Parts: sequence; C-alpha cells; structure tokens
Amino acid sequence: MRQTQLFTKTKKLAPKDEMSKNAELLIRGGFVHKEMAGVYSFLPLGLRVLNKIENIVRAEMNAIGGQEIRVATLHPSDPWKKTGGWDKIDVLFKLTSRTENEYALGQSEEEIVTPLVQEYAFSYRDLPLAVYQIGQKYRDELRAKSGIMRGREFGMKDMYSFHTNQTDFNRFYEIVKKSYFNIYERCGLNAKVTEASGGNFSEKISYEFMVLTEAGEDDILYCEICEYCVNLEIAKAKEGDACPKCQKSKLRSAKASEVGNVFDLGQKYAKDFGFTYMDEAGTRTFPLMGCYGMGTTRLMGVIVEALSDVSGIVWPESVAPFRVHLLSLDANEQAEEIYKQLTDAGVEVLYDDRDARAGEKFADSDLIGIPYRVVISQRSLASGLAEVKRRTAKSAEMVPLGELPNFL
Ligand code: ATP
Ligand code: MG
Repeated sequence: MRQTQLFTKTKKLAPKDEMSKNAELLIRGGFVHKEMAGVYSFLPLGLRVLNKIENIVRAEMNAIGGQEIRVATLHPSDPWKKTGGWDKIDVLFKLTSRTENEYALGQSEEEIVTPLVQEYAFSYRDLPLAVYQIGQKYRDELRAKSGIMRGREFGMKDMYSFHTNQTDFNRFYEIVKKSYFNIYERCGLNAKVTEASGGNFSEKISYEFMVLTEAGEDDILYCEICEYCVNLEIAKAKEGDACPKCQKSKLRSAKASEVGNVFDLGQKYAKDFGFTYMDEAGTRTFPLMGCYGMGTTRLMGVIVEALSDVSGIVWPESVAPFRVHLLSLDANEQAEEIYKQLTDAGVEVLYDDRDARAGEKFADSDLIGIPYRVVISQRSLASGLAEVKRRTAKSAEMVPLGELPNFL
C-alpha cells in the first residue's frame, strides 16, 4: 500500500476529550476515528489490525471445535424478559419501535443462542457442542474513558457450549482456558488468570484473564513466582501477604485489564427456556452450559497500552497492519523497485512515498508502529545497502539490497 493512497493521514493531536493513551495513539496514527465517548469507527489501518486479531481468535476457536455463527444484534425483548436480564442487566440498551415494540441490543447472547441451539439439539448424541461468533456488542456503560478498551459499542468473541455432564463441561473448560492463553501469547501479551465469582446469575466459579497495564480498570493481586492471581475486589489476601499457594513470595498488587473470561453457567439458561434433551436412559434432562467471552477491540487497546513507547505504537508482528514500513528519503526510483520486489514476495508493505521531510517520515513510522522499518536513501544505495530497523530495537542494521526479501 502506498502511503499517498492511504485513506487516513497521521494527526498531530487527538480530540481534546480523549483521555486514554490507546485511543490517543490510535486516532493520531489514523487507525480509528472517535464518533463519541465509547464509540469508535475502524479505519483501514485499524481494521487490518482488528481483522488479524479476529483471525487469531477464530483459528483458536475452530481448533477446539467451536463452530462460527453470526447472531443478530437487534434482539426481541421476550427472551430477555424470560431470563430476567431485561430488568437486571443495567448496561442493556433497550429500544422501542414506532409501533411500540420493544427490542434489546446484544450485550451478550445467551438469550438468543440458548433457544437457537434448543431447536437443533434433541438427544445426547447432539452434545457436546460449541458455537461462537465475533461481532459487535452494545452496552450502556456509565464510564467510557478507556478508549477502545471500554466501548459502548465494541467487538467481542462470545462462545457458548452445551454439555451432558459436569465432567465433560470441566474438560472443555480447561481446553478453552488453554486456547485463551494461546491467543494472548500470539497477540504478544502475557496474561494471568484469576478465579472469580460467577457474575450476574451464577454461583459457580468463573475465570478472568488479565493483562497487567496501568490503563486497566481492575486491581489484581498476584504472585511473581507461581501463577496465583486474584481480583482484589473479592480477595481475602492483601498486598505483601505471603503467596497462599507457593509461600515463596509476597503478593503484589497491580492494575490490569480483563481481556476475557469464562463462565460455568450450569443449567440456568436451559431452565429459563425449558431446553431439555433426551439422555442415554431416555429421560429428558437440562444440558449444562458455559460461556466464553473475549473483547477483541479491548484486546487491541491493551496491545497498544502494554507495548507502546514514548514515540508511538509497537505492534507485535502477528497483528501489525503491515510487516514492513518502507521509507524512501531521496531515492524514489529504487524504493519503487524494492516496494515491488517485496510485495511480489508476499510481504505486506506500507510504502511511504510521500513528498515529506525525513524527520516527519521517521516520526510517523514510529507512531504507526510497523515491526520493520526499511529506509532507502542515496547514501545507503551507494554501498548497495538498505537500513533496516526493528521497531523494538534501538539501532538499525545495514542489509544488502539483494538479501532484503529473504531478510524480511
Ligand atoms: P468488565 O468487568 O471489564 O466490564 P465484564 O465482566 O462486563 O467486563 P463480560 O460481560 O464477561 O465482561 O464480557 C466479555 C469480555 O468482553 C470481557 O472480558 C472484556 O474483554 C470485553 N468487554 C466487556 N465490556 C467491554 C466494553 N465495554 N468494551 C470493550 N470490551 C468489553
Ligand atoms: Mg462490564
């Protein structure tokens, strides 16, 4: 992609009311556009990143047997009234049509998915099954000051699983937890898992996946030696206590952002909808259900918060909008050729072909945060070299032009 053709341009400033680092950098870099507090549009650069995150999530969900669906986000009110969510869930957006019909906007979709699965799962032979979707969610959040980490409209992957018995549920629960760690790792993040109470309806155990970042809205206590980690809100322990698990270290507290969670829903929703299947003995039985959420746009915000530096964003290679940022300083003809070579070799290149000062190109490149910066100038060409710098490295290295495609 030629930067002269790129729809967005970098900006010196983010909107005055933007308080969060993630949105500030993403807006200045031309990744997202702020429509109002908690609502952002994704622009070409931002959508490339989000698509890559979603594809990592999709691959991991498919690998554990999840089947992708796309559930409507405009919901009838009946199922919400049936489960109690209509009155109980404070973030639920409710609408009334001009014909006085009531609707809800999807904030999570047990209310739609449970009766949907009920239509297709009749017998123990149809279970277990897991369906998931990746799409928009709507929540009437009171505070939306964390940029794309807390939206009123945001992206989420939500999966729902149905099982005949607790052992089978527990088996799948563990598999999902592993796949969540794979996702965070592939996104360049280091996540911890906390044990927490089950939220709105469930007395059962749930797990929250946390990434340490000052921009997070959760406070956690964790051990630096073992994997002990709890949400401070519910913890009996406090900072400085000996780790109750390994006893080898003192607990530390930190700010963290919840990038996903998994819930054991038991039979709550199956009972609400009268969803039974025929078990092996021929008895009608309620299935057990789990739900597994992951904020895809929050994940993108957390990557920005956790990995950026003073100069801008630092994308991990796996989700970067492009792999290479090619900067032509005073050697357009040769840079054109290298751009063609690299793209022909299948490398994703953003080519800064703008008529701009070197300093501006360097600053924009750091802000946008593409993993490899390649600078082509008359000076380096004289010795047949290109200057290659990783976004994470302090200094550049000189690479012979002929070796560039292989090197990258
Ligand atoms: P939080 O405590 O941060 O409000 P939650 O407990 O309400 O999260 P869930 O309802 O379980 O979260 O949603 C699943 C996932 O969706 C969360 O783990 C988080 O990653 C993401 N998420 C939740 N609310 C938002 C939001 N307003 N904006 C962006 N992502 C969100
Ligand atoms: Mg919430």
